[in-house]
Amino acid sequence: MRLLFRDLSVISRILCANCSAKYMTVGHQIGKYHGVCRPQQPPVPQQSQHRLMSAAQAVNDTNNTAANNNNNNNTNTSSVVSNNNTNKFNVTPSKRVPSFVKIVEVGPRDGLQNEKEYVPSATKVEFISKLSQTGLSVVEATAFVSPKWVPQMADHSQVMSSVNKFTNNLVVNYPVLVPNIKGLEDAIRTGVKEIAVFTTVSETFCKTNVNCSINESLQRIDEVIKKALKNEIRVRGYISCCLGCPYEGPQSSVKVAQLAHKLYQMGCYEISLGDTIGIGTPATMRSLLEEVLKLIPVDSVAVHCHDTYGQALANILTALDYGINIVDSSVAGLGGCPFAKGATGNVATEDVVYMLHGMGIKTGVDLTKLMDAGNFICSALKKQTNSKVSHAMQTKMDCNHIQKSS
Ligand SMILES: [Zn+2]
Repeated sequence: MRLLFRDLSVISRILCANCSAKYMTVGHQIGKYHGVCRPQQPPVPQQSQHRLMSAAQAVNDTNNTAANNNNNNNTNTSSVVSNNNTNKFNVTPSKRVPSFVKIVEVGPRDGLQNEKEYVPSATKVEFISKLSQTGLSVVEATAFVSPKWVPQMADHSQVMSSVNKFTNNLVVNYPVLVPNIKGLEDAIRTGVKEIAVFTTVSETFCKTNVNCSINESLQRIDEVIKKALKNEIRVRGYISCCLGCPYEGPQSSVKVAQLAHKLYQMGCYEISLGDTIGIGTPATMRSLLEEVLKLIPVDSVAVHCHDTYGQALANILTALDYGINIVDSSVAGLGGCPFAKGATGNVATEDVVYMLHGMGIKTGVDLTKLMDAGNFICSALKKQTNSKVSHAMQTKMDCNHIQKSS
């Protein structure tokens, strides 16, 4: 079905001829089929263009890598850590999976918002700065929500103003979560270039989380998106509880797909499908993507998997098989959901990067620097990492150190 959509890109241009020029979309211009007209998004930032090029180049690079490595059968763990490429791996990416995956790091927002102890603004900024040095192209920085609901994010304006000071030297996008017009106006004042809006597929979760119905949340989002696009701010959309709700249980994939389509029509350039309570399995992820990819292009879909039931990597792997090339994750597996009791953190970015590099898929991320950023925030929070990779690497380094000194 996905291949069919790609083939339909030519037809989509013909369909698009039925539209007035003002509705011509970025998606249509680059030949992507989505069957509907939607508002024009601001131009893709320089870094994202670079990433798109990298994705295309990655195929050639990887082919060259495979050729260069024909005589190298020494696949070892340290090569995953020390290299951001696949040079030491005698592997080639599967034809079905993408050759490059964009990681959306959500630790500073989705991760920290669930921490009870208040993290000082300077620590947050240093954390974001460290993440920005790792090769990540997207770091979700904060949320412009009411401090009454999420006290941890009360310093959003201060954090963003500090982050903006180092954005000139780095090509990283720093989206911020925005629940309403008030949040957007505050965000605009700090000069943000990208925001994220959110809704959910579960009516009960919506009532509990944002105190309104799904339809009311969509009306609110529509208002936010219109104003954001007017201010040349790009918009990403989150849908939570896609694979299950803590109150209602399993959710309809068709309903998620329709909601994703709605957000896409409204002007979101990317839709992140959240397994907020980490309850999904490869089977439910498959049925979700079967429906969603009927309605929106694969390059506009991200997966956001929590690891509550230990299924996150398996679910991401399933998504890769569908050609999904955007994955949300949180360094050290920080996070949870303040409105979903028992939901543990997002999948750890270190574990996702390790898996992708091990599969010969590029990410642009340096795993060693990423683990450093994870260690930094874990020691600030006085907690252990939830990243299995980081834990294993640390143990290995400690053992080596003991052996050397004994
Ligand atoms: Zn999350």
